[in-house]
Amino acid sequence: QAKQAGKNRFYVFDAEHDRAVRGHHESVERMRDALANGEFVLYYQPKVNMSTGEVVGVEALVRWQHPERGLLAPAAFLPTIQQHPLAIDLGEWVLAQALSQFEAWANAGIRLPVSVNIDAIHLQQADFVERLRAEIERHPSVAPGDLELEVLETNALEDIAHVASVMKACRAFGVEFALDDFGTGYSSLTYLRHFPATMLKIDRSFVRDMLDDPEDLTILEGVLGLAVAFRRDIIAEGVETLLHGRMLLAMGYQLGQGYAIARPMPAKAVPAWLESWRPDPTWRHRQRAQPE
Ligand code: C2E
Ligand code: MG
Ligand code: MG
Ligand code: MG
Repeated sequence: QAKQAGKNRFYVFDAEHDRAVRGHHESVERMRDALANGEFVLYYQPKVNMSTGEVVGVEALVRWQHPERGLLAPAAFLPTIQQHPLAIDLGEWVLAQALSQFEAWANAGIRLPVSVNIDAIHLQQADFVERLRAEIERHPSVAPGDLELEVLETNALEDIAHVASVMKACRAFGVEFALDDFGTGYSSLTYLRHFPATMLKIDRSFVRDMLDDPEDLTILEGVLGLAVAFRRDIIAEGVETLLHGRMLLAMGYQLGQGYAIARPMPAKAVPAWLESWRPDPTWRHRQRAQPE
């Protein structure tokens, strides 16, 4: 009897596992079709200097315009293809699309650097650097500094030597790097020094909690000091309220990205947003004087 139950349990588990594997396979195939059918779109979220109002660029953020389920955020579909080769195909589409959009804006007289999030598996491809260079060459108006790649700090730390060498190779033809969600990866000064990333993007959890948690404030101040010491730029993500912006400016942060500035928007909404955006009056001239 016990043996029987054990067997059944094994059988049930196995069937569930089998269903899960098949379900996952179907989800991946559905995403492959979606890519072929043009169901993915890029939204763009501005990055600004919160005191001067200068718009320093936009981050491309992928969305899935699903025919039945509506507009889906990355959290709803990127996990499906994590570590799957399809993530490379999607990443290449995102890069090509973002560069085309950059070029379209440039042709309309709007020079707006774009940032693209790069998946670890994509960055690990042996031909990543060559393919990126070829893609950039297809877009002659893209100059050094116009394309920035955002790499998760946690991914960079998994394979320091490789990521650092890819960054170095890409910087040779003008591509900049940001370390995304910075502060979540337990990186030390020793590690930071290896990455030729010009920008640190402090993770939005620190900004979100700084009003309640003095330790998060301390981390924000510490990372700012780190950025200054290592001559890196630093941007705060998740500037959700005017108060967040004021506090960050008072601390010495200049660059910000978040809902209090703009939500991610379709490309066609960007020109009108650029025309209308002004920093909140309470944000102006709030920054602490920075040493030269
Ligand atoms: P991320 O690169 O850290 O992007 C910032 C995320 O924070 C975006 O979410 C953005 O919409 C959201 N956000 C911006 N400002 C605020 C704010 O003030 N408050 C709050 N609560 N959230 C804010 P999204 O678009 O859902 O993307 C989530 C993550 O998915 C991204 O985090 C990035 O890691 C990944 N992702 C997005 N697009 C791509 C892509 O094209 N390729 C890859 N590999 N990953 C992507
Ligand atoms: Mg990002
Ligand atoms: Mg981030
Ligand atoms: Mg994030």
